[in-house]
Amino acid sequence: MDFRFAPEEEAFRKEVEGFLRKELPSDWEEREGLVDFEEPEGAAFARDFRRRLARQGWLTMAWPKEYGGQAASPMRQLVFREVGSYWGAPGADNSVNQVGPIIIMHGTEEQKKHWLTGISEARWVWAQGYSEPGHGSDLASLETRAVEDGDDFVINGSKIWNGAHGNADMMFLLARTNTEVRKHRGISFFLLDMKTQGITVTKVPMMWGKSRALVTFDDVRLPKANIVGEKDMGWYVGAALLDFERSGVERYGRQKRLVDMLVKYGRETRYDGGTVLDRPGIKRELVDCYIETEALRWVCYNIASLQSQGQVPNKEASICKIFGPELLQRTYRLGLRMLGPLAQLEPGSKWAPLRGRIENGYLDNFGRTVGGGTSEVNRNVIAMRGLGLPRG
Ligand SMILES: Cc1cc2nc3c(=O)[nH]c(=O)nc-3n(C[C@H](O)[C@H](O)[C@H](O)COP(=O)(O)OP(=O)(O)OC[C@H]3O[C@@H](n4cnc5c(N)ncnc54)[C@H](O)[C@@H]3O)c2cc1C
Repeated sequence: MDFRFAPEEEAFRKEVEGFLRKELPSDWEEREGLVDFEEPEGAAFARDFRRRLARQGWLTMAWPKEYGGQAASPMRQLVFREVGSYWGAPGADNSVNQVGPIIIMHGTEEQKKHWLTGISEARWVWAQGYSEPGHGSDLASLETRAVEDGDDFVINGSKIWNGAHGNADMMFLLARTNTEVRKHRGISFFLLDMKTQGITVTKVPMMWGKSRALVTFDDVRLPKANIVGEKDMGWYVGAALLDFERSGVERYGRQKRLVDMLVKYGRETRYDGGTVLDRPGIKRELVDCYIETEALRWVCYNIASLQSQGQVPNKEASICKIFGPELLQRTYRLGLRMLGPLAQLEPGSKWAPLRGRIENGYLDNFGRTVGGGTSEVNRNVIAMRGLGLPRG
């Protein structure tokens, strides 16, 4: 076993770092971690930045050349995503990391040409339409209906907790197309233009001061050409997408950045004649977070390696989905202890240490342990698919 990156991959890491240093706004160090890419302003910035990445040929570099990729190695792609997420830069969003791979697996040739090429150019911002009011973890019981009518489906119902309020151009969504069969067997996967008549977007406030959206559909017409995979079989398309959503080296990049930030803060901040690192237990807890961060790195690399062999990780993705956000939460909690009472100050307060990033991140990250499937639900996946335990 040799876990080192090849010299050309290390050179590429430097190239990406150089690009980010040059292309990110000059005050990025101040804003990093506080820009929400699902809010309108953050989404507009992210769209523009992803277009620059696309022009570099980096956004979808591992995709086939005929669909806007460069057929680059999965390790080169991993390096790009790791560096970008460490810097907190916009990178592989839900179009690149979720919709694209699903269209590669389940799309028709026509769909691949149109959607993959567009995604590789960062043409659209996407929202995810899975959860509904009253149907989150038990997703298969969703009630939004899609009924065939001529060349279209007509959609009625609602979707919640998504990023549609950030001026999303498109939504990928699950809707019920058959009520006569078992619930998993009557769902289809669609791509919906958010400018279609009959769509209403309402903001839902979140506890970290930002919003997510409630989207309602009132006789919304969607062309039949926009169904991905077979009608009624969309549950399996949507479930495969979740495996992509639950994995990703970005979880490691964000975590490593936070640990490095706390180490620097602890070293540089005076406390009681010494530094914050001298306070009881702080050094030991930082080391524990660092050890777990290294473990997360290997969880992420293992998934990239499975994907490079054409496999879709399932229990591995759930391990990553539990471990990443829960570790981030433990690390933010340590950050709160290190900052003391001032940790409660919000971004914008002139006395807030680390620009209020710890307060903001701690609250924001609660959502990360829920979105994409809660930790409990992912533990169920591992129990069944990892340990072979019975359902229930
Ligand atoms: C910040 C944020 C962003 C999100 N983004 C999106 C998005 O873009 N698109 C989208 O479609 N959805 C999104 N979601 C929704 C998210 O996927 C759902 O909230 C999640 O699936 C849980 O559903 P629920 O909130 O209805 O909770 P419930 O399903 O009501 O669960 C309540 C509690 O019961 C537990 N529970 C439920 N079932 C089981 C079980 N079988 N075994 C053990 N415990 C169980 C859960 O773990 C949870 O603790 C987002 C959520 C958040 C918080």
